[in-house]
Amino acid sequence: MVSECTACGYLAYPPRLLCPGCGGSSWRPRPAGAGVATEVTVRRPVFERRQLPSGEWVEEEPTRLGAVSTEGGVRIIARLEAGIEAGGRVALVRRDGVAVAVEGS
Ligand SMILES: [Zn+2]
Repeated sequence: MVSECTACGYLAYPPRLLCPGCGGSSWRPRPAGAGVATEVTVRRPVFERRQLPSGEWVEEEPTRLGAVSTEGGVRIIARLEAGIEAGGRVALVRRDGVAVAVEGS
């Protein structure tokens, strides 16, 4: 979700206190919707395996992150599903509390 100024329609992400467009302070949530992945980076874990407090070992998976330029003109950093490359059209969804870019418009 992004924040939309109720007075002038300015889109902000992350949310702001005052609208840079009109100085208003009234926002409504709006779905970020679709956009284009513009930058793709892979954040590799420092260690390949990590030990849980239980003693069990888990593999650390690299996380792919990208900047998504949405149709509303807001840039959102999102986790990318496999197969998404720079320039690809994506839809933004919320999963486990974080923004995730999935394939499609
Ligand atoms: Zn405004």
